[in-house]
Amino acid sequence: MKLAIDLDGVLADASEIWIPIFQKKFNIQILKNQINSWNFWEQFGLQYNDFEEVFDEAWADWQNVKETENNISEKIIQLRNFGQVDLVTARNKKTMGFVNKWLEYKKIQLDNVIVVDANESKAILDYNIFLDDSPIQVKQIAHSKKIALVYNQPWNREIKENNNIIRVKNLFDVILFVRKFVEDFK
Ligand SMILES: [Mg+2]
Repeated sequence: MKLAIDLDGVLADASEIWIPIFQKKFNIQILKNQINSWNFWEQFGLQYNDFEEVFDEAWADWQNVKETENNISEKIIQLRNFGQVDLVTARNKKTMGFVNKWLEYKKIQLDNVIVVDANESKAILDYNIFLDDSPIQVKQIAHSKKIALVYNQPWNREIKENNNIIRVKNLFDVILFVRKFVEDFK
């Protein structure tokens, strides 16, 4: 069992930092719950780079980036009992120093930390299960006949479940899924 876990929107929630920066910089009022598409910046006539700049600035304040749920470090330990668990993040490489500090600060330990370009598909990577919140990544993973666990977020509500796409509301759901996956393989 090889599991690839995404960072932003799955383990880390930087929204309380980036949303105020975004609001101030572009004079736009937006709430996390109102972000109902991945490329939400397009509805304000913005480009991906505009969002990326704000997001990178937010991660510089890594000590204030929240965890998406309680006891993530312990839940990752449980998942690692079933096989290899890597963090696979698609992002600007210059923020990786902050990411590594955040993981250490939160005592979250993974087998490997892998970074791919922000627009790169994770689907080609050698994992059987991916945990992600990006509707784009999820569709590509399912298309390549691998399993995509979709971590509930406002921007992925439109994603429908099928044999390869399974919605999870927290890491406990992920543990239950992975346990069954490993048992079915025996
Ligand atoms: Mg993400």
